[in-house]
Amino acid sequence: MGNGYWQRLLRVDLTARKSWVESIDEKDLKQFIGGAGLASKILLDEVPGKIDPYGPDNIVVFAAGPFQGPAIPGGAKFSIAGISPVTGTFADTAAGADWGPALKDAGYDMLVVQGVAEKPVYLQIVDDSVEIKDASHLWGRDSYEAIDAIRNETGDEKLSIASIGPAGEKQVAIACVVVDKHSFAGRCGLGAVLGSKGLKAIAVKGTRKLEPYDRDKTPELIKQYQQKILKEVKENGFKEHGTPALCETAESLGDMPIKYWNGDVWPEGAKRLGAPNSTKVLSAVPYPCKFCPIGCHRKISVQEPPEYVLKGVGPEYETYGMMGTNLLIDDPKVVAKGNDMANRLGLDTISAGSMVGFAIECFEKGWLTSKDTGGLELKWGEPHVLFALLDQIGNKKDFGAVFSAGTLRAAESISSEAVKAVVHCKGLDFPSHDARSCISLAPTYATGTRGACHFRGGCEDVEMGGFFIPEIGIREGTVKFFERENQSMVAARCQDYFALLNSLVICAFMTDGGGMSFTEIKEFFNAVTGWDYSIRELMDAGESIFTVQRLINIRDGYNAKSDVLPGKMFQPAKEGFRAGKVPPFRKLMKDYYALRGWNDNGEPTRDTLDRLGL
Ligand code: SF4
Repeated sequence: MGNGYWQRLLRVDLTARKSWVESIDEKDLKQFIGGAGLASKILLDEVPGKIDPYGPDNIVVFAAGPFQGPAIPGGAKFSIAGISPVTGTFADTAAGADWGPALKDAGYDMLVVQGVAEKPVYLQIVDDSVEIKDASHLWGRDSYEAIDAIRNETGDEKLSIASIGPAGEKQVAIACVVVDKHSFAGRCGLGAVLGSKGLKAIAVKGTRKLEPYDRDKTPELIKQYQQKILKEVKENGFKEHGTPALCETAESLGDMPIKYWNGDVWPEGAKRLGAPNSTKVLSAVPYPCKFCPIGCHRKISVQEPPEYVLKGVGPEYETYGMMGTNLLIDDPKVVAKGNDMANRLGLDTISAGSMVGFAIECFEKGWLTSKDTGGLELKWGEPHVLFALLDQIGNKKDFGAVFSAGTLRAAESISSEAVKAVVHCKGLDFPSHDARSCISLAPTYATGTRGACHFRGGCEDVEMGGFFIPEIGIREGTVKFFERENQSMVAARCQDYFALLNSLVICAFMTDGGGMSFTEIKEFFNAVTGWDYSIRELMDAGESIFTVQRLINIRDGYNAKSDVLPGKMFQPAKEGFRAGKVPPFRKLMKDYYALRGWNDNGEPTRDTLDRLGL
């Protein structure tokens, strides 16, 4: 087409050991854009209702969008989607590095993996050559070793490789997908779904180049916005310190998890984990995905003490929250080691940190004893507890095996009090943002199509004052802390906006932190595709995408009864910024359903579906 899409979907059936190419309908591209959007449409059409996420009916969709062809800033991202073993809901997760552009260079917009391999395999895709190769020798190896081994045996340094670790192989429900030892499609356990299919890794590269529709304007815009973003992130410190720069602010606003959501304040801990301290202690420098002027990922080099020596990818804010303040650990080197262990095992660092915090709370309250934990005393602030539990969870062994189906399922096997203590929505552990502080997160988490996720919304940054989208009425002062007005509007519009970003696919940090406006993203989209979308039309696409994801969940049995928050979100803090406050949840949800055009059962009405053309 020459307009940002090949209109080609590569399908691989592991049971039949066959692959073939299908064409993608232009109408679907116009409505669902690509990435997570188009993947959602495929999951709605092809998954036959509620299924076993590890069964043969689940499919895994790897999806690029129109932005992976040209070198658009933030355009190295791609989506992975399927039915989650953690939540049983729709799930999409994104990663960067080089994999999305590599798929596009090979001549495909999407890859759909279906069926189950008889024995472990990996895929090697180079242009029209699609090989299903034996991976028996890689099974059991950690994600980094597997990526290195594939590079060595193919002799091809240019392959971009997405791999699972032992956690994915053993179907630990929080298993992630590791890309190029650099970026991580973390949430919702799609690494475990790949493990259930016997698929260890997908290596891809290509020699084709997809030209944008406007070959003059697109490179001009790229140059202009690369420079603009670079200037912005140099000035606001995002480039130098990455997401850890958020730690102190988040803690001061009651947003950061402390002691598995039981603590209120810990400024000293957040200061030690945050920037500039962690940047210095870990010798952290930016580690950009392809085409990225920011480099929010961290490359670290720890020289001492011997047990913490490490060169590689460093922790981000979310991991400092869940493996740091959440566990009363304040040493960046400890979190860096925990992060590295989780990456190699192929575990989502957010959910893994959450599980450890939950286990310690259970131990403290007497719901677990050392008899249950094989003699391990679970205490706050103890690095060896973090490391031991990560090893056990990732390898599905000893006490850690209790977490193999997620925190909620583990709690169900412990006690009814433990179930009430889990901090989750639809089974997905909270990330490092507290819905008692930024209350627009309350409806965002409760209705999140993949469960509790801040990055399918981004509204907390609006509330904290660092991110606005004036084109859709989200400005400084649109919401105020703890006040109901506009919160649900911000939640819903941010969800739709992020659904759009995850479909284009563009890294949200280009706009949230990098300062690229929605209008500028629209200019890119129109230059690349040759279409003439308005802001309104792009938002309609975002809303359609979010709604399709909601429809998948409704089809599979989720409804208003599933749109709830965990009990701890109604326990007010005794001190600090959010002392005495809890979100007015029912009122926020009432506002939210009305704005969305959903009935009392949480289902989009016929009018809403007609308005969206669904
Ligand atoms: S900002 Fe971070 S996640 Fe986004 S493209 Fe750049 S390095 Fe990758």
